Amino acid sequence: MRRLEGKKALVTGGSRGIGEAIVIRLAEEGASVAINYTSERSEELARQVQLKVEALGGKACVVRADVGNKQQVVEMFQQVEAEIGEIDILVNNAGIAPFEPFLEVSEETWDRTYDTNVKSIFLCSQLAAPRMIAKGYGKIINVLSTASLVVTSPLIPHYQSSKAAAHMLTKGMAIELGKYGINVNAVGPSTVDTDMCTDYLADPDIYRKEVEANPMKRLGTSRQIGDAVVFLASEEAMQINGHLLMVDGGLSVKAAQPEDHIH
Ligand code: NAP
Repeated sequence: MRRLEGKKALVTGGSRGIGEAIVIRLAEEGASVAINYTSERSEELARQVQLKVEALGGKACVVRADVGNKQQVVEMFQQVEAEIGEIDILVNNAGIAPFEPFLEVSEETWDRTYDTNVKSIFLCSQLAAPRMIAKGYGKIINVLSTASLVVTSPLIPHYQSSKAAAHMLTKGMAIELGKYGINVNAVGPSTVDTDMCTDYLADPDIYRKEVEANPMKRLGTSRQIGDAVVFLASEEAMQINGHLLMVDGGLSVKAAQPEDHIH
């Protein structure tokens, strides 16, 4: 028996990277999945992910929406419910990390980062929760970061503070929604080689330092994040609530060493 047979899930930012891996892992465990994306150029990528789910024998739909925009989120939920039904699992994965040092970061970058990384969790979860409350069951899983806990780079204070805010939002929602049978948890990746980090990891020196800084002496993978999401979405995690499951090789529990200073 697959662990999520018959469940319905929405993964924001599911067109590529970590989100794609989460979609595939949920589908492998039997869930129907709605794949959200926002940019026009990602429509084809999202369709490819849908085809991969269908090749696994699963059901999927694609839905375009900027998850930081309330009207678009409302319309996304309407489309998802029409295509796969009311969701049991919401994975708030969409995120951006524009690399700009604190002294240069623009107001536009700040707002876009917070809209995508924090407001999106508020908007999507506030719409998903009443449906979950009616069923007395639901799983909300937020994709956070090592940056939710420690400073990982001097170039993204807006990103780090947004991920820390999303961590506290996870805890607050867990307390408020737990009594309705909704588990709210999070996963915390360290650096994963996705489009988000392509330019950054293209420098072989930075790549080597990233690997060296990690206690496991390797980078994590998108699929490992998907595995952690499946666990938190499963019955095995019914009593886990308000937890941030780090999938970072232990990076966030390690005091920074001089050789860890990457930039
Ligand atoms: P990615 O490869 O850049 O993919 C980002 C995804 O989010 C894409 O599907 C993108 O859609 C979507 N997205 C961005 N803005 C959106 C918006 N406003 N509305 C809807 N969708 C939006 O990133 P990733 O590396 O997979 O990261 C996924 C999550 O993991 C993020 O929350 C990120 O902060 C977190 N994380 C990543 C790393 C890492 O090293 N990669 C480490 C720690 C945490 P489009 O394709 O349409 O642009």
